[in-house]
This record gives sequence, structure tokens and C-alpha cells, in this order.
Amino acid sequence: MTGTRVLVLNSGSSSVKYQLIDMADESRPASGLVERIGEEGGTADHAAALRRVADELDGQGLGLDSPELAAIGHRVVHGGTRFTRPTLITDDVLAGIRDLVPLAPLHNPANITGIEVARRLRPDLPQVAVFDTAFHATIPEAAARYAVDAATADRYGIRRYGFHGTSHAYVSRATAALLGKDPAEVNVIVLHLGNGASASAVRGGVCVDTSMGLTPLEGLVMGTRSGDIDPAVVFHLERVAGLDTDEIDTLLNKKSGLLGLCGDNDMREIGRRMAEGDQAAQLAFDVYVHRLRRYVGAFTAVLGRVDAIAFTAGVGENSVAVRTAALLGLDNIGVTMDPVRNAVRGNGARVVSAPSSRVTVAVVPTDEELEIARDTYALACGTAGG
Ligand code: ADP
Repeated sequence: MTGTRVLVLNSGSSSVKYQLIDMADESRPASGLVERIGEEGGTADHAAALRRVADELDGQGLGLDSPELAAIGHRVVHGGTRFTRPTLITDDVLAGIRDLVPLAPLHNPANITGIEVARRLRPDLPQVAVFDTAFHATIPEAAARYAVDAATADRYGIRRYGFHGTSHAYVSRATAALLGKDPAEVNVIVLHLGNGASASAVRGGVCVDTSMGLTPLEGLVMGTRSGDIDPAVVFHLERVAGLDTDEIDTLLNKKSGLLGLCGDNDMREIGRRMAEGDQAAQLAFDVYVHRLRRYVGAFTAVLGRVDAIAFTAGVGENSVAVRTAALLGLDNIGVTMDPVRNAVRGNGARVVSAPSSRVTVAVVPTDEELEIARDTYALACGTAGG
């Protein structure tokens, strides 16, 4: 095999993101986004979206038929208990991903379509599935199990799988690198705060706990998802409010979180409103931060010794206010922020805690596409990368 380029495809429910990455120097010759799939005036379906991706690449002389292309890497949301590492896609693997649709009805179908179309376009090329759940497969049973009837849980695959694993893997390793240490030497709490948000506890490079569960609904307060609630809220909504299962699903996944609390899910807008004294925006921010602090405390106890706390994704990388409020006054557990460093804008990985802080607090930009490309290239081309 001579090519060194990997096409990374992230087929979401209504969009396809792509990046072409040259593994010779990890440069990005092309990237783009096809949005509004299945919407009026948008792209008809995922097959049409993938054809547009192929056309856009063609237009830049980087077509799918290029001999430079070595492999295609696909982000797949749910790998269940079967797929715990990046996997070369075969018919059997594709069938396995399809078997997991009931666990991820919003996500896996789009991922499957992306794989099918890409395989039709380049049947000769190695294609690799990189699972959002895989990094969390090492979580011990004590943390992965829900305390529900064991037979029922086993029968229906009810356990904590965790998501955003590609990001947690990348950021925990990048954080070790920032500290000048090997990942095996450091314990890190990773806070991935984007539209979706999750926390993980990583001991010596191995994930031991995470905030998301059976689905990406559990855990932190997110843009539109509630995160943790008493499960009896669901029964109450059914019995007292008369909502059906799909309505409750939509309420908790799409109309809750920051959006549900104050009508906005963008932290920038919430910041502007708070500055004007808006009470609802302030409460949404406070609920968001309170949950975050809870998880920092919980994962500090889980790890015992914490060397670093890493903030990543849109909110984590950009919101000075969230980082400040989340970690303020935690000197007793070894966390002392540096207000000046924290307020400085920057692009790369950087330390935002005080030199005296026992726990290093860092902003570490995530790069899920690069992580997928490395995994894909290593598997498809037999390199030791990653
Ligand atoms: P996704 O989960 O969709 O990949 P991102 O990681 O890109 O999301 O995060 C998107 C969120 O990041 C936005 O909804 C917004 O709230 C937040 N964000 C982006 N830039 C800023 C900023 N400068 N300050 C505060 N929040 C920001």
C-alpha cells in the first residue's frame, strides 16, 4: 500500500462531517461539512450527502479514486460490549453495528449508511469503524453496572457504556504529553464540554469511570439534554403529565439542559444574558456548573490521586466563566486556578492553574478526527501509530 491519506467520515443524524488527513505529516488537505440532510431544501439523504463529499473532494483533485487514499475511518457511536477497539469493517462487523441500533436509534443508523455508501464507492479500500464507546470498555463492573435486576440488565444490555470516548482518549493522552509524562504515569479527569458533555476518570491511561451511561443522556447538564435526573421523573411525566415515551424522550434529549432551563443552549449567549442580569440564564449557568463540580468531586474520590483536570470541546476550551466557576475554592483538594492564565485566549494545549496547584488544570483542545485517522491508519496499514 502506497497511500498515506485517510478520509475520516462522521455521519450524524442530519449532517456528514469529513476530513482528509495525510498521515505522513498529519496535515489536512481537505475538510468540510454537508448539513441539513433530510430537511426541506437540504440534501436528500445520506447517500446524496456522501456523493457530495466525493464531488467536493474530486473538485480539489483529491477524489475518492486517488491512489493516495489509504483507508476510510468512520466514527460509530455505539459499539456495545462487542466492539471495544477500532475494527476493520466486514459484512459481519456491519451486521454487528446494525444489531446495536436499538441501543443508539438516533446515531447508529446514520453511521451505518455512511459506511454502506463509502464501501460502495471504494469496495477495495480498507474501512475502519472507530467507536465512541470503546475507550470506556475498561471501566470496572462496579462503575459500569446499574443497580437494577441483574437478569433484566443482562438480557437487554443495560449498563453504562459511555460516549465521546475518542475525545477522552485523545485528550487524556495529550494532557499527559503537556505534563511531559507518559500516559501510564498520570491520573486525569477529562471534562468534554461541547453541545453534548461528559466527564471521565482516567487512571494511568485507562478509563475507570465516565458520566454518560446506556445512552448519551446521563451525567452532566448539556446544551439540550438533562443529564442526571431521578428516573421516577419519567414515570411522573407519564402518569401525571400524560406524556408518552417518545414525548419524554424528546423532552429530555432535545428540550432540556441549558435550552430547557433558559431558552438558549449556546454558552456565549447565556454569558451575554447573565451580564445583563438575566435570572433564567444565571440559573441555567449555576445548574450546569453545580453538576460539573459534583462530577469533579466524585471522580477525584474515584481516582484517589488526581494529577490533572483537562477541559475540552466548545465550552471547555472557550468559556473562562465555566472553568472558573467549576473549580473555584477547591484549594483543599489541591486545585488552585490562575485567574490570569485562565483568562488568556489561546489555541493550543495550555495550563490554567497556578504554579502552586497540586493538580494541574489544563485546556486541551480535542481532535477526534485525528484520533480516528490514527486508529484507522494503524489498523488498515499495519503501522504502530496511535
Ligand atoms: P459539538 O458537541 O456539537 O461538537 P462543540 O464542541 O463545538 O460542540 O461545542 C459547541 C458549544 O461550544 C456551543 O454550543 C457553545 O455553547 C460553546 N462555545 C463555543 N465557543 C464558545 C465561546 N467562545 N465561549 C463560550 N462557549 C462557547
